[in-house]
Amino acid sequence: MSGIGFWPANIALAIALEELDFTGARLFLERHSSTKWQPDMMLSGSDIQNHPSRDLVTPRNPRSRYTFTNFLFENDRLFEHLNLGLEFPLRSEFAEYVRWGVGFFARDVAYNQTVTTIQVDPVSNLYCVATQTGNEFFARSLVLAPGRTPVIPQAFSECASDQVFHLTQYLGRLAQLTQQRELKRIAMVGGSQSAIEIMLHLRHSYPQLEIINVQRGYGFRLKDTSQFSEHVYFPSFVDQYYNSSAEAKKNINRHLHYTNYSAADADVISELYVGMYEDKLQGKNRITIKNFSEIQHCTSTVQDYSLTVLDTQGQTAEQLPDLDAVVLATGFRNLETGTQDELFPTILRDLAESLDCDTQGVIRISRDYRVSATGLS
Ligand SMILES: Cc1cc2nc3c(=O)[nH]c(=O)nc-3n(C[C@H](O)[C@H](O)[C@H](O)COP(=O)(O)OP(=O)(O)OC[C@H]3O[C@@H](n4cnc5c(N)ncnc54)[C@H](O)[C@@H]3O)c2cc1C
Repeated sequence: MSGIGFWPANIALAIALEELDFTGARLFLERHSSTKWQPDMMLSGSDIQNHPSRDLVTPRNPRSRYTFTNFLFENDRLFEHLNLGLEFPLRSEFAEYVRWGVGFFARDVAYNQTVTTIQVDPVSNLYCVATQTGNEFFARSLVLAPGRTPVIPQAFSECASDQVFHLTQYLGRLAQLTQQRELKRIAMVGGSQSAIEIMLHLRHSYPQLEIINVQRGYGFRLKDTSQFSEHVYFPSFVDQYYNSSAEAKKNINRHLHYTNYSAADADVISELYVGMYEDKLQGKNRITIKNFSEIQHCTSTVQDYSLTVLDTQGQTAEQLPDLDAVVLATGFRNLETGTQDELFPTILRDLAESLDCDTQGVIRISRDYRVSATGLS
């Protein structure tokens, strides 16, 4: 068995294989040189957005040694951590937990292995996984966990990635930019938790920087954290969702969108709001929010970028010039048919013709997460 990607999903699988006494050979291929959880969003003070017991193992096996609680215990921090009184742990501590988990499975991972193609070897009928280093790995079964593909809206498709980048590249690109220039003005596109976290980070790190947020909505809205809505994390909900018709799924998505998307937790919303008020008290206007706004174009001048922004209420367009950078908190592609979606994960492109898809061409994933393909076992 081979796994592609070695971050939370496949680390959880590695733990399960060990605990369920899987005796077959296994190897996880990871493109990075080590395992780091969301390294470009490891912002000081940021927390995870879930109960820490929804960790790598507790929902499947609460008695496991790989729980977040046992990580704290083995690292002699249990009482100090409990004493913090935090609803959610710091992201940096959760990342350390994931790294701690990885440490037990070093023998099962090959790092610096970016998978480029997956094909079927006609002789052995095994999957042949080729990586950028020229290596080939053969496996009877594959478990894909390469993460989701960031959405880069059409208006930004021609922009240079050193100045216009998705949040998943935030800290790395920012570090490069600050070596080249003094940052004066940055646009932040989107209305999510990550958008606010980045604005807070920019405001704190660059006291002279002007930050312009462009979002489609009226303003940053609260995540839906109602206990009733959070039934989405119950296995029984997954069954209900899986067994729903396409129309019923759309209805569920509409109702439950704000449990996870286009919304933020109350703590960061409040911190941003109070920060903006504090700026006002000091006679500064460092953060502007352009609401009900759509980006129409993003154009480069000699050194900077300029955005054309449409006010969707008044249908008037405005230019936002002299931007040192544009950060995109524009989400991730879904497995659907929309212009910003993808029909199947890109990593499966060489198997595209044999994948089992629905009538619209979207890959079919069964309730146990299996993908089937004609001619493959
Ligand atoms: C900023 C941010 C904060 C988040 N915070 C939370 C949170 O608080 N709570 C929560 O529940 N979820 C959160 N999420 C969602 C997050 O995506 C998941 O928690 C988790 O990281 C998903 O795990 P994964 O293993 O499926 O994918 P990922 O974590 O995306 O890992 C994919 C792995 O596959 C590797 N890979 C990709 N392509 C290849 C290839 N071709 N060859 C080899 N390796 C490859 C990547 O290098 C990576 O290591 C957050 C997401 C982001 C972006």
